[in-house]
Amino acid sequence: MIVPEPQSAPGEGEAESLDVWGFRDTHFDVSENGHVVIRGNRYELSGKELPRFLPWVREVLEVNLDAREVHTPHYPTEIPEPILPRELLDALKTLLSPAQIDTNGETRLRHGHGHTQEEMYAIKYAQLGRTPDVVVYPDSEEQVTGLVEVTKKHGATLIPYGGGTNVTDALRCFPNERRSIISVDMRRMNRVLWIDRANMLACIQAGAVGRHIMAELKKYGVTMGHEPDSVEFSTLGGWIATNASGMKKNKYGNIEDLVLDVNVVTAAGTLARSSCSPRESVGMDLRRLIFGSEGALGIVTSAVVKIFPLPEAQQYGSVVFPSFEDGFKFMYELTRESTPPASVRLVDNLQFQFGLALKPKSDDALAKLKSRIEKFFVINLKGFQPDRMVACTLVFEGTRAEVQQQQKAVYRIAARHGGLKAGSEGGRRGYQLTYSIAYIRDFLMSYYIIAESFETSVAWSDALDLCANVKRRLVEEYARRKLPGKPFVTARVTQVYRTGVCIYFYFGFYYKGIPNPHEVYLELENVARDEILKSGGSLSHHHGIGKLRRAFLPRIMSGAALQWKRDLKKSLDPDNLFGAGNQDLDVR
Ligand SMILES: Cc1cc2nc3c(=O)[nH]c(=O)nc-3n(C[C@H](O)[C@H](O)[C@H](O)COP(=O)(O)OP(=O)(O)OC[C@H]3O[C@@H](n4cnc5c(N)ncnc54)[C@H](O)[C@@H]3O)c2cc1C
Repeated sequence: MIVPEPQSAPGEGEAESLDVWGFRDTHFDVSENGHVVIRGNRYELSGKELPRFLPWVREVLEVNLDAREVHTPHYPTEIPEPILPRELLDALKTLLSPAQIDTNGETRLRHGHGHTQEEMYAIKYAQLGRTPDVVVYPDSEEQVTGLVEVTKKHGATLIPYGGGTNVTDALRCFPNERRSIISVDMRRMNRVLWIDRANMLACIQAGAVGRHIMAELKKYGVTMGHEPDSVEFSTLGGWIATNASGMKKNKYGNIEDLVLDVNVVTAAGTLARSSCSPRESVGMDLRRLIFGSEGALGIVTSAVVKIFPLPEAQQYGSVVFPSFEDGFKFMYELTRESTPPASVRLVDNLQFQFGLALKPKSDDALAKLKSRIEKFFVINLKGFQPDRMVACTLVFEGTRAEVQQQQKAVYRIAARHGGLKAGSEGGRRGYQLTYSIAYIRDFLMSYYIIAESFETSVAWSDALDLCANVKRRLVEEYARRKLPGKPFVTARVTQVYRTGVCIYFYFGFYYKGIPNPHEVYLELENVARDEILKSGGSLSHHHGIGKLRRAFLPRIMSGAALQWKRDLKKSLDPDNLFGAGNQDLDVR
């Protein structure tokens, strides 16, 4: 058994922004010559100019976006005074050190939201409303237990906080909550407690952030393999509480496949077991209740997870297809005839163009020539149409032999559907882009563009219709409301299963002149969700419900199922100590 040393506290270089996504050292900007540029040096695109991006945005949205016209943010907008009785603060002080208690306004504000467009707009241009009254940073399970007791005794309420990356309003506080709200930030509980190489298990504290888990396990030649696009900032506890899915789930599994056991501090004591075996039949599996519990049943303090040897080989790949339908058929057959690689993603034509618009300016004459020849070959000789063609990006991981075998199968099946190998560089770039793209939404917001993604899962047989229906409905509803220009609506398939796929939509529009665009956006997102459900899709594949989607629950669950949920919450947490109200239809 290996017991790693505690990790040192994150350094200045890891500081995060409070008002926008990501690391403080990175943001998109417009340079003096009017080109978009990513400041900092953290990512591959950092410091590079993207001259095609703004012209492309203008063309797609059909608006005359002026890069000199900035919608100046007013972060932080109003932060309410805390409701924090002296006795409660004193009780917290007996349990925690002064450094573990924070009542600073901006800290409280940050702990009252995740990353929905509505929340990010509110903290800069409107008002978020009620925020936690105090933020605490426990460093042991005993302290978490103590916090629950203090909360009970003083009639307060708790909201667990991981990395604050959720996109479901899960951390948002109810305006009418009169009790003191204690945000329990888990960042100090970030250790890999032990690694058992013989049985390929590790025990990790719930506040550990994905990038740290990866780095720490890597030192011992192993990986957990869970890599959501938010892996830089989201935590193990957050993954469990939201039932998350990583981009390499084909190889490693989703979070529920990876977690073997959990310790959870609840209102009724600690949920824990004496041991964990590979698989058991010991009656109702209470661990399952915690996946997707969104902070409503307790605080996950640690989990035992499966680990894997670091892959001997990792290869990227990409294939272009004449159309989305061709790429989709390829994916379907891949799940029938072969084991899909660790990750396989298919973007539609608009998202393919989006990727091209983010290509940096190249001074390399040879690279430019090569790119022109490739374009000529694909378009003129192979007959691909620029406004129809799509791309699929791939990550292969495993032993060299496994990777070779998968590559063969993938490219053989792709060729049957008109797919052309587009090289490993395209694939690598696609995956690297994921991390920098996450910064674009907040950048565009200051140029009057509001955008966000939402996802679903759906059976293979309904997936293409679902994509078409959602896009059509959003375009129609947008036009009906006489909103400016055209909306940006695009889809990609991000996960495959034998039974179906996960689809991500991106939707955005130019909002200058529209009062409360975040509310208009939400209205349209709800229209899209309605269409998703009508077309056979799920309410969510991995983002969860939070407060954002709870109104749709009666459409997907019977009355008895909803009552079970209510009864369960009430009997496990009768005083509603864990009061974030996620998935709760009764709280306003
Ligand atoms: C750019 C971007 C990319 C994303 N990509 C993905 C993706 O690829 N896959 C995916 O699944 N999701 C993705 N998400 C969504 C988000 O990252 C996940 O939902 C993630 O699991 C949230 O983890 P967190 O630690 O940030 O949790 P938080 O946002 O802090 O909290 C989320 C919920 O979990 C609860 N919670 C947090 N920690 C605990 C704990 N220790 N015990 C009990 N409850 C707890 C909170 O109370 C809250 O209800 C993405 C989000 C963004 C903004």
